[in-house]
Amino acid sequence: MRCPYCGQDDDRVIDTRPSRGGESIRRRRECLACSRRFTTYETVEEPELYVIKNDGGREPFDREKVRRGLARACEKRPVSKERLDELVAALETDLRNRLVGEVPSREIGEWLMRELAEIDEVAYVRFASVYRRFTDGSQFAEELRRLTRTRKKRRARRAKKPLREQEPPLFDLERD
Ligand SMILES: [Zn+2]
Repeated sequence: MRCPYCGQDDDRVIDTRPSRGGESIRRRRECLACSRRFTTYETVEEPELYVIKNDGGREPFDREKVRRGLARACEKRPVSKERLDELVAALETDLRNRLVGEVPSREIGEWLMRELAEIDEVAYVRFASVYRRFTDGSQFAEELRRLTRTRKKRRARRAKKPLREQEPPLFDLERD
């Protein structure tokens, strides 16, 4: 390790101990050229997780970016910062557990929409409208219909009643 004082790359380790609850190893070193001491930390390198964008581009997974998108959708909604942190952490855990290293952004969007639909309807619709880039009113209406349908199914499951055959009408979101 290069000495931060004299720049020589010759040292000996004089102390090694776990740090930050075992997340890293702290080593105390002594430069053999100038005898000054310095500290280094060693951490596990997490495998990179990449997001495949719709245009085919590839970028590292950015939890802050996801967090910002969620925060925008949840602005002035009764969703706590802690809840959003949990959501982002759960997403990242899920993505990392797949051990594939690359995830299409579409899947991340769908994952978040599923969760938001459970948490806050308004946040969900906001997120969906940005995420799906609705270009006209009919797409937006379709999204609302999808949400209503999902909620009806959920409620029906909860009530253990058979599902109704016909489609729910458009825009009956207000009555939910
Ligand atoms: Zn030195």
